[in-house]
Amino acid sequence: MLTSHRLVRSVITRAHSCSKPLSTVATLPRIAVCGSGPSAFYSIKYLLDKHPDVHIDIIEKLPTPFGLVRYGVAPDHPDVKSVVTQFAEIAENKRVQYFGNVVLGKDVELSQLLSSYSAVVLGIGATSDRKLGISGEVEVDERADPATGTLSSGGLLSARSFVHWYNGHPEFAWVKAVLQALPHPLRDVVIVGHGNVAIDCARIMTESLSELQHTDIVTDALEVIRGCGIERVHLLGRRGHVQAAFTIKELRELSKLAECRLVIRRDELDAGMTDASRDELAASRPRKRITDLVENICKGTAPGVEGIKKQEIHLRFLVSPTDITSSEGWVSGVKTVRNSLVGGAGGQAAVATAEEELLPAQLLLRSVGYKSEPVPGLEPEFFDDRRAVVCNQRGRVTSTASDATVKTGLYVTGWLKRGPSGIIGTNIADAKETVESVLTDLESGMIAPVPASGGDISPLRELLAPDVNVVDWAGFRRIDAEETRRGQVAGKLREKITDVCELLAVAGRCR
Ligand code: NAP
Repeated sequence: MLTSHRLVRSVITRAHSCSKPLSTVATLPRIAVCGSGPSAFYSIKYLLDKHPDVHIDIIEKLPTPFGLVRYGVAPDHPDVKSVVTQFAEIAENKRVQYFGNVVLGKDVELSQLLSSYSAVVLGIGATSDRKLGISGEVEVDERADPATGTLSSGGLLSARSFVHWYNGHPEFAWVKAVLQALPHPLRDVVIVGHGNVAIDCARIMTESLSELQHTDIVTDALEVIRGCGIERVHLLGRRGHVQAAFTIKELRELSKLAECRLVIRRDELDAGMTDASRDELAASRPRKRITDLVENICKGTAPGVEGIKKQEIHLRFLVSPTDITSSEGWVSGVKTVRNSLVGGAGGQAAVATAEEELLPAQLLLRSVGYKSEPVPGLEPEFFDDRRAVVCNQRGRVTSTASDATVKTGLYVTGWLKRGPSGIIGTNIADAKETVESVLTDLESGMIAPVPASGGDISPLRELLAPDVNVVDWAGFRRIDAEETRRGQVAGKLREKITDVCELLAVAGRCR
């Protein structure tokens, strides 16, 4: 990694190349970081750590920071959320300025950022999700508008929308109306996918009030979920238990719910135990531990699974949805097909057999992965549609063409760079790689410091129209304090404010 004195020298060299004498042209390496989730914050941390002069502006479309830590991590996992303490310290560094409620492509263009900053780092994650691609897949998602009647064909939600809603994301408040409009009780819910997001959704639907009420889950959402009358959740995985994407901690939590029993079928475990699965187990200790737990849950000997409980989660393996059935415009069931595993260890695929099953369902959650979308203002040749990522080499944005032309000054980090996988900590190595590319390019002169224009005055201030209601860090601190206060009154960790106008008012930005 670069040493500070070499970097300072590079800054001076760049300044020398300008027409004015060095004494009159103060310059600074200024970086705009778009997004304020884990990938953005780890990138900021390493930029600050590795360069003594770098100044950073955070551009976040919501008034509030922290991305998926605030709006994705399950409310009953406060230990995971505690990373925001570290992120807040980073945001309070005097070389960092936070610009909340500023939308890239609306309030400021990418081209403006590129011409005003030394570098722009995109850390805006994945704002969409993968589809099932099956017949009857009528979506009721963020494009839903109850007033237009879209709701009348409802009953299918993305897990992303459901998760954002119970976590208080202001753009997903509409999920409440969708759930309330469904024919009650929602006895059977089908969730497709066996990743940790699917497990989170199943757990939040079935956890008892006492397990959830003191967390930072939105109280209103908790009441709506409890009022749905869910009796069974069917969690469908297209492959076997050895290939499941969830982790053991999340599976264990599901097996120990106070009022919900986890059920696993013997025949589905047996069908998944191919020779290739045995080889996969022999090569992976985490998978062996999951298999042991799955076996004990199936036998009823795992701690917490015994006894009769109010609700049930059926963790199903080797089952794929093929069709969504509906009645009077509402989802009524999911047709499924049994799969068999084909292929060698590490590459087994689910292949449909002739065996079909119809599962009743009043709500279907699609949880087969998040998906990034093209970045506003970024030319299409830099977005890889097949992988749904911004094309890059070690974080440097490049074209998808075979010559991989570098988009000078533009970098990417996190899910937008590598795809929607990994835990919060996965962003550490990812961010380090991107930051190393930024600093190498600064040192080589490929990107240059920009005029310091008035010391602490950020270029963004000049770019934004006066009517943009920017929430600065002090404004977010006011939101944070108010949410904490409301939480104390309600006997919980925090009561999130879910409406943008109210967030702006509390931040002191309402006009
Ligand atoms: P994920 O881990 O990639 O899981 C996606 C699931 O969808 C897999 O089971 C996959 O099965 C299945 N799938 C994909 N396409 C399908 C299709 N067409 N039909 C049926 N099933 C299909 O994604 P995720 O659950 O959205 O999680 C995203 C990342 O966030 C993961 O890295 C996850 O670990 C992380 N996360 C972590 C936590 C936590 O640590 N507590 C919580 C939430 C999320 P195949 O394996 O067969 O493709």
